[in-house]
Amino acid sequence: MHFDFAIVGAGYAGSVLAERLASQSGKKVLLIDKRPHIGGNAYDYYNEAGILIHLYGPHIFHTNSPDVFAYLSQFTEWRPYEHRVLASVDGKLLPIPINLDTVNKLYGYNFTSEELEEYFKSVGEPVEKIRTSEDVVVSQVGRDLYEKFFRGYTRKQWGLDPSELDKMVTSRIPTRTNRDDRYFTDQYQYMPLHGYTKMFEKMLDHPNIHLMLSTDFREVKETLSYDQLIYTGPVDEYFDHCFGKLPYRSLRFEHKTVDTEQYQPVAVVNYPNDNAYTRITEYKHLTGQEHPKTSITFEYPQSEGDPYYPIPKPENAELYQRYKQLAEQQANVHFVGRLGTYRYYNMDQVVAQALTLYKKLIGAESLEDVV
Ligand code: FAD
Ligand code: UDP
Repeated sequence: MHFDFAIVGAGYAGSVLAERLASQSGKKVLLIDKRPHIGGNAYDYYNEAGILIHLYGPHIFHTNSPDVFAYLSQFTEWRPYEHRVLASVDGKLLPIPINLDTVNKLYGYNFTSEELEEYFKSVGEPVEKIRTSEDVVVSQVGRDLYEKFFRGYTRKQWGLDPSELDKMVTSRIPTRTNRDDRYFTDQYQYMPLHGYTKMFEKMLDHPNIHLMLSTDFREVKETLSYDQLIYTGPVDEYFDHCFGKLPYRSLRFEHKTVDTEQYQPVAVVNYPNDNAYTRITEYKHLTGQEHPKTSITFEYPQSEGDPYYPIPKPENAELYQRYKQLAEQQANVHFVGRLGTYRYYNMDQVVAQALTLYKKLIGAESLEDVV
């Protein structure tokens, strides 16, 4: 069978493009994934106890983009959910991002917001040019809070010291002098009411989309017939690592179901300093599901395994640029997604990136025109 487009990867990047090309442009699409399911890393499913869990760790949807939200809303209803995270530090569970309560409870102070601002000014270390993930934090909150909340977590998560990582990594976490304990402040903060996989099923339910799961593109590519290729797997793998391997960070997930209704007070508790895992997630907080038992996941960072995180540091950015140049020379091959463009992107950013590629493919003027 001949296809207008072959798409590698049925995560957000591949599924958004498959959906748009099939339903809006009448294209015949072959969507391939080596995993036995759709949804990429956002895949969720009901486990043996009947609890909805995320196979690849906690996925919380948040965006400031009305276009991305409007687009996905065609395929799911939503459950309002504001994410809150606690960090286990010095035997206490404290709000992260660091806020007024974090500092007061950690040190036994009674600061007001104004006093905390002054305090941060007094302990923050001046940094001439903020380049690294260490610079970001020590300049804002000083060395003690940096060491208690960021240094250990980052070294575990990335296998690197924050001073070796680009500033964008710890810049994801703001510092606050008020009592706002939400992890995100985006305008839209929701979870898909029936889960991510159900949303993907609805996106891909179209007669022009032919789905091929449990299939590695590398093993079937010679047998396929298509006009254009959209590739959302690792860009270096596509080119047989011709310039060397792009480093990715991986995780081992330990999923457990325990015989208690609630395991921890919030969906995610971070463990910056003790234990080999970085965080524990309890899904019922995210999904609102009621069940006499509860399912939790421990995340153990590792260097080998599925590529989950591009590693933002200067050498890797340089190496990626070489692959990017090669990618741009390929006729009728488009690279997109977290792995395809080696970017530490959230789900909404990948949806926006995929819609932008669709806009380019059909020659539309704005994102609003393609959602
Ligand atoms: P992926 O979801 O990785 O999809 C790529 C697909 O390509 C995979 O299914 C893979 O099997 C397939 N593939 C690769 N190579 C081949 C091949 N050769 N042949 C066939 N198939 C292939 N984002 C948020 O917004 N909020 C969060 O809370 C959040 N939490 C996260 C937690 C973790 C632990 C991780 C790892 C990521 C998290 N993210 C979160 C980011 C989110 O997962 C990504 O932004 C999003 O899933 C990327 O979509 P994608 O389509 O680019 O890639
Ligand atoms: N981070 C940290 N301590 C925390 C939370 C985050 O040091 O308690 C740092 C760490 O380097 C982490 C980064 O900030 O990788 C981004 O955190 P986020 O929660 O956004 O990570 P993700 O959900 O993408 O794994």
